[in-house]
Amino acid sequence: MLLIGNGTVLTMGQEPQVIADGAVLVEGEKILQVGKTEKLRLSNPTAHYINARGKLIMPGLVNAHTHLYRAFAKGMGPVGEAPRDLPQILKRIWWKLDKELTVEDIYYSAMVELIECIKDGVTTVIDHHSSPSKVRGSMAALSGAVGDMGVKACLCCEVSDRDGATTTLEGILENAGILLSCQDSSNSFLRGLFGLHASFTLSDETLRNCSTVAAKFDAGFHVHAAEGMVDQEHSLAVCGSRVLERLNLFGILGPKTIAAHCVHVDSREMDLLRQSGTWVVHTPQSSMAHAVGAAPAVEMLAKGVAVALGTDGFTCDMFESAKAANLLHKHACNNPSGGEVEVQQMLYVNNPRLAAGMFGGVWGVLGPGAWADIIVVDYLPSIPIDDSNWPRHLLYGVSGRAVETTVINGQVRMLERRLTEVDENAVYTAARECAAGLWRRLNHKG
Ligand SMILES: [Zn+2]
Repeated sequence: MLLIGNGTVLTMGQEPQVIADGAVLVEGEKILQVGKTEKLRLSNPTAHYINARGKLIMPGLVNAHTHLYRAFAKGMGPVGEAPRDLPQILKRIWWKLDKELTVEDIYYSAMVELIECIKDGVTTVIDHHSSPSKVRGSMAALSGAVGDMGVKACLCCEVSDRDGATTTLEGILENAGILLSCQDSSNSFLRGLFGLHASFTLSDETLRNCSTVAAKFDAGFHVHAAEGMVDQEHSLAVCGSRVLERLNLFGILGPKTIAAHCVHVDSREMDLLRQSGTWVVHTPQSSMAHAVGAAPAVEMLAKGVAVALGTDGFTCDMFESAKAANLLHKHACNNPSGGEVEVQQMLYVNNPRLAAGMFGGVWGVLGPGAWADIIVVDYLPSIPIDDSNWPRHLLYGVSGRAVETTVINGQVRMLERRLTEVDENAVYTAARECAAGLWRRLNHKG
């Protein structure tokens, strides 16, 4: 048994409580009890004790949309002419980078991103992968990294027609492979979705084929949707309807499907998202960085659309993503009071609900029976923290680097900023070698 105590416990969940001098008792992969430290220590004298030293004890976080393959873009210089819009960003950066990835690159890129996740208190990632030259084996490399780091993950391999029919077929088979391996639900760390790039790089025939294969596994999809106007213009040109309507024609939407971004959606598409129960993942930093506009996340939430929060690989830090979402919506809605409630809803309610639908069990709460995904955060409040104001403390006072200890399914993965299972320096050394090789190849091709 594991007891994390002597901290301020934020239980979260449906009836969030702040417990001073609180503790969380873990047995196996799940939480057994939450209460006062003194009482739980007395009744469990043999439990391994982690002293939180007055800091926050709260549930681990979920990143609802990321790209573990993008680690080596950090610090990479421009390749060729600087892009000026989303199609140019894709063609000149991401589609160049993903084509050069080797299986070793995929593994080490994921390893450094997952180390960052653990350091930022992210215990579960929903990943969207692309490596068109190395499709086969990409899911094995990613699930290997996920297994080595002990982070929970939902994986998929994007299918796109942009690299020809063979690559399309390989993508379909790679998704089938990960979905097949995830049919054994006794693995509480790994899940799969069927990955699609975006409507504007997918033909009707490919969408139909993907839909047929996904149906055999009763799987949802993970697709980029309406990130830029290019997606809408393409959809209107090829079928006369908008992106979400087109995806719906092929049975892509539904309560197991994630539509990332949804920046350029109209009210009919929002109705479609709500009626179908499709998840939208909002990615504020990426949308700002790609200069594609602000997704109507506040409006979608008000309409009853299930909107979660992700980083799109821009960072691993969900506290920072929450800060960006808050400021973006204050700015975009011209409302200094907007954003806070919606950010809390996305990160602390909807992200765990999305993960619960995939993995099963109780998520996003410190309470008996919930998965033991627990983080200790170095934050000493300068004003009283209580049941009503804890979200604002987290929003304005905490960043990922304040996370000291990370526990995933009862396993301690980081203790007082030191990773417990992995030689961090060795991983970063290997990753830097991979990155240097990747950059050489990219620069050589220009
Ligand atoms: Zn993305």
